[in-house]
Amino acid sequence: MILVTRARRGVLAFTMEPMSSALTPAGSTAAWRTIRAYILGRDRWLCQIGTEGVCTGVATCADHIVPREVGGTDLETNLRAACEPCNLARNRERLKLEHEPRPRRVSRW
Ligand SMILES: [Zn+2]
Repeated sequence: MILVTRARRGVLAFTMEPMSSALTPAGSTAAWRTIRAYILGRDRWLCQIGTEGVCTGVATCADHIVPREVGGTDLETNLRAACEPCNLARNRERLKLEHEPRPRRVSRW
């Protein structure tokens, strides 16, 4: 279950109940869809990433600025609207960095 609380100045805060609404990697829970819709509306469905050469400008995804894998939250301050090509490009870049072989150690005599 997701709890949406309206704080002062109209800033929304999301509070997730642990476990019961755990997000799937695909982000397909009802809770996630609610957050995603809010973020898209907040950013007026405009892609906030703007990757050169791929950006369509029309956002359909909510992107975690700091990825969940490294402790990023689902708070609105960590989310921004993104078009699918930008979101995919960003995820690809992230995966590439994670799986990039480490530089080989130079053996010294
Ligand atoms: Zn884009």
